[in-house]
Amino acid sequence: MKGMRRLPRLLWATWQILLSGLLILGGFIAWSLAAEHDKIEKQEQERLATQAKVIDDNLCRQIASINRALLSVRDDIPYWQDRKNGWDLAAHQLKALADALPGVHDLTILDADGFVRASSREMPARSFREHEYFQASLKQPDLETIYVSEPFTNVFGTWVITLSRMVRGPDGKFDGIVLAALDAEAFTVLLDSVLYAQDMWSVLAHGDGKIFVMSPQRPERMGMNLAQPDSLFTRHRDSGQAATVMSGTALHDGEERMLAQRTVQMARPKMDKPLVIGVSRDMNAPFAEWRDNALIQGGLFALIVLSSIPNLYRLHRRQRAAEEDAAAAEAALHSKNLELAELNAELATRSEMLRRQANHDGLTGIINRRHFDESLQAEWRRSLREGLPLALLMIDIDHFKLFNDRYGHQAGDACLKSVAAALRQRLGRPYDVVARYGGEEFVCMLPNCDLSGAETIAEELRAAVEALCIAHECSPTAAAVTISIGAAAAIPSTASGPEVLLADADAALYVAKHNGRNQVRLATASAC
Ligand code: GH3
Ligand code: MG
Ligand code: MG
Repeated sequence: MKGMRRLPRLLWATWQILLSGLLILGGFIAWSLAAEHDKIEKQEQERLATQAKVIDDNLCRQIASINRALLSVRDDIPYWQDRKNGWDLAAHQLKALADALPGVHDLTILDADGFVRASSREMPARSFREHEYFQASLKQPDLETIYVSEPFTNVFGTWVITLSRMVRGPDGKFDGIVLAALDAEAFTVLLDSVLYAQDMWSVLAHGDGKIFVMSPQRPERMGMNLAQPDSLFTRHRDSGQAATVMSGTALHDGEERMLAQRTVQMARPKMDKPLVIGVSRDMNAPFAEWRDNALIQGGLFALIVLSSIPNLYRLHRRQRAAEEDAAAAEAALHSKNLELAELNAELATRSEMLRRQANHDGLTGIINRRHFDESLQAEWRRSLREGLPLALLMIDIDHFKLFNDRYGHQAGDACLKSVAAALRQRLGRPYDVVARYGGEEFVCMLPNCDLSGAETIAEELRAAVEALCIAHECSPTAAAVTISIGAAAAIPSTASGPEVLLADADAALYVAKHNGRNQVRLATASAC
């Protein structure tokens, strides 16, 4: 039963250990996967940011070179103006410079009305006054600003952006511009050089949002405006930061991408509009290996969960069944023990009964001769030790044969019972003993009793039996049943034994019979 009470606690403890173990393991796997994901994401963001910076550095160097070329052209304008064929000379010079500057489609000088003064290429003889790049310098003339135009297709059908500087006349007023047209195609090499994975693309856009060039090349995207509400471009521009890395849906292809953006905005010379670089990767691509790993770890964890929980459940069921079996066995044992205890009690009762039966006479219920002999031996030794007298009375019913003959054996038995009861009742002291000595003979043992005491008691016994008035009409002695008693007493000594005392009492009984029965006779040989 103890086991049954202990089991639920043990069960809960093992469940708690297993579940917390699984929780810790699951937590650890989730944590390490999240940490790994985070690490990959950061690494990827750093790599994209680095690639964007590579483009930025190159672009800045290129813009700086172009700016220096524009400044030298602007410085030389007064020289060419003052000379005959000066503008032919200028065109020559511009061509040499444009050839030397990678990515520059043409270098051109326009006058205050937008007409070409000189160009590295053959230009149409018309005014470019209405062009946005011209208007920008015209409206906000600033000698220190480098004007960056939106991408557009120039007169040669080339997709370009122009970088221009304002020209100031001798009077200090606006006197046209010098411009360098950047060929989009020339930048694809630079944009290509930073791509390290198939799923990547890079882009260079004007600060107002129009795509200038993309790698891999996508002609249909040229000029697309990225400055849409909540686009990654707009979020970058609104962040006010020079470099950002963001994740989200790319406007031009609708894919989930990670995008590093960088604003190209030089401090000197000041650019009126920046350029924006973007380097991007497919969101999912860097995590391909991580996803496989997560699948394996998740699968293993699920396997552990799916195998350990049912196993523990089965183990507990087996344990519970074993505990129940043990409890049932214990209960069975307990009930067997109870049965055994009952049997033992019954055995004790029976053995007590047997002991009583062995010691007592079946008919009269008083102790039998065998037991009396044992008691006599013991009492003899005790009296010997203590030096006390011991008396014996031998009692015999008179003419009992005749009684049986007259009244029948059953009546004889009843008479024997009545006589025995009377004798026992009459013996006052608890340690006096009366026994059936055989047939219709009885014997009394009277410890610490001398001969005269024995005579008194014997006389009382005789009278008691006579007083029963059991009719005995065939008795020559009296009309009722009587007894004759022979009494002997002795202070035991080592010289003799109780047999002698018995023999003395028996001899005295013989005398009593001989002298007419229904009387008490004392042994002459008695020592008391
Ligand atoms: P006495 O006065 O000389 O003793 O004569 P008595 O007849 O008593 O003596 P006797 O020895 O001749 O007879 C004893 C009788 O007691 C014989 C026997 O039938 C009877 N007797 C002995 N044991 C029992 C018993 O258990 N039941 C019955 N009903 N009679 C018994
Ligand atoms: Mg007899
Ligand atoms: Mg007799």
